[in-house]
Amino acid sequence: MKRLLCQLIAGLLSCGLLVPAWAQGLQTVLLVSIDALHPAALRADVAPNLEQLKQPGQFTLDGHSVTPPQTLIAHTAMLTGLSPEQSGKRDNAWKPGQTQVTHKTLLDIAVDQGFATAYFYAKPKLGYLVTPSISTHALARDDGVERAQAFLRQPGRRLVFLHLSGLDEAGPDSGWLSGPYLDELRYLDRSLAPLLADVRQRGRYLIVLTSDHAGHDRLHGTADPQDFLLPVLVQASRPLPGIVRDEFSLVGLKAMVLDAMARLNKD
Ligand SMILES: [Zn+2]
Repeated sequence: MKRLLCQLIAGLLSCGLLVPAWAQGLQTVLLVSIDALHPAALRADVAPNLEQLKQPGQFTLDGHSVTPPQTLIAHTAMLTGLSPEQSGKRDNAWKPGQTQVTHKTLLDIAVDQGFATAYFYAKPKLGYLVTPSISTHALARDDGVERAQAFLRQPGRRLVFLHLSGLDEAGPDSGWLSGPYLDELRYLDRSLAPLLADVRQRGRYLIVLTSDHAGHDRLHGTADPQDFLLPVLVQASRPLPGIVRDEFSLVGLKAMVLDAMARLNKD
């Protein structure tokens, strides 16, 4: 009898006639930060998969980083929603064993909302943003995409923050928007394609792609306006008109993501 009941439930689930509690509402949030991505590099001939994330009214190539526009300071603003002055994180350094962030991050709030969360980062200093509530976290220098895919293969509501490195080396080595820089972005774009496909197959989803800062010539983190530039691209299982505001500031990313999550969860 019990076996029959199990077979019946499995049948209903596979036909989509019975939706398990975990499969209702928003299922998947993928946040990708491509370190040092200059918005002008986001061209269809360089990054065709990321090009698909440019939805009308849901992206800007004129977002702005914090002052100074440096990796850890910017990512702290991204995840806490606080400026460097408000968070107190005004230096760009962190080493394992040192104090980690104490402000509530976007991932902590997702946990409160019933999401399992993963945080994969390609630079050791971003370990500063690991908090106790995160389900899975790892320094993933080269395999962040694969780790994110494995995490999302499991059922339930899941949020991943994925930090990818590469352009932050190609920029200083060869110059922002140089041939080798664009080749590195081509590689990152190809690498992300299967992960983006996986997310789209997981029911209601939200994908946000952004960066921490850009650069100019072989420099970044200076007062040059180009160093502050960053893109924000939002794609979801349904349109979210107006979700990305003009004059987008990285400090507003947390609030924007939470707004998008609330909208997608409701209907
Ligand atoms: Zn950076």
